[in-house]
Amino acid sequence: MAAVILDGKALAQKTEQELQQRVDAIKSRSGFNPILATILVGSDPASATYVKMKGNACERIGMQSLKVVLPDTTTTEALLGKIAALNADPKVHGILLQHPVPPHIDERRCFDAIALEKDVDGVTCLGFGRMSMGGSAYGCATPKGIMRLLEAYKLPLAGKHAVVVGRSPILGKPIAMMLLNANATVTICHSRTAQLGQHLKQADIVVAAVGKPEFIKADWIKNDSVVVDAGYHPGGLGDIELDPLHGRVAALTPVPGGVGPMTINTLISQTVDSAEKAAQRVGSN
Ligand code: NAP
Repeated sequence: MAAVILDGKALAQKTEQELQQRVDAIKSRSGFNPILATILVGSDPASATYVKMKGNACERIGMQSLKVVLPDTTTTEALLGKIAALNADPKVHGILLQHPVPPHIDERRCFDAIALEKDVDGVTCLGFGRMSMGGSAYGCATPKGIMRLLEAYKLPLAGKHAVVVGRSPILGKPIAMMLLNANATVTICHSRTAQLGQHLKQADIVVAAVGKPEFIKADWIKNDSVVVDAGYHPGGLGDIELDPLHGRVAALTPVPGGVGPMTINTLISQTVDSAEKAAQRVGSN
């Protein structure tokens, strides 16, 4: 049977209609417009494109984005100062610091300087810790987007064996904790993992977050599994060799159009959540 295509693009579009209504409600009840501040440091063209796409998504749902563009020469201290100013600005409901920042900047320190209630991209250690412990925090956008996609297609996770390839702070580690919290049994693989193919052959759910085009071979993946490919490379390739899988796995994310749109959708959705909380605070004062 043909694999179910986990269509992140369609789900994101559908969700945007609901988000637009929620933004309209905030505007009419509280008189302010939700604002996502986006910080781009340096001149990496791919990062600039991602930030632009995030700004466009804000516009589509009637929300505002506040674009902060800083030069390559920005210091850690200067970036921390900008983040502190955005934290203190009551008009700003979410802060996105586009990853990666230039190598001389202490990215972890800057991520962790984002106030928890504005960490709508889910990048702080505090947010990760709370999420892992089942507490309240915004989920890291890409893994949370993947979880929302799996949920929308009602794919069972409890008791399933999920194999995550990659352990980055923004993808591999948080998706592993989210799957664990959803009662999957989770194996995390990385560059030192021996016999990666053997681990993948055990997987009911595969999540690829490696960053290498078609690194995971189709014949490492068992029939009827659920395949999530977070990779995106020139030529529309993912981290998994997807083409041969269409006829024999249960479900898969297309590249493009699977995980990518859900990342942006989760970011704007969590910004709307944050703005709604701010509106409630205004209302109760
Ligand atoms: P990353 O920080 O470079 O992490 C890559 C991970 O892959 C590392 O944990 C690394 O292991 C592991 N790895 C590298 N070589 C390996 C090997 N030979 N065998 C097993 N594991 C190996 O990348 P990332 O930021 O997590 O991104 C991963 C992918 O997702 C990229 O393709 C990126 O473009 C994509 N991405 C997509 C979105 C989206 O919205 N669609 C968002 C973010 C990222 P070590 O830890 O041992 O080095």
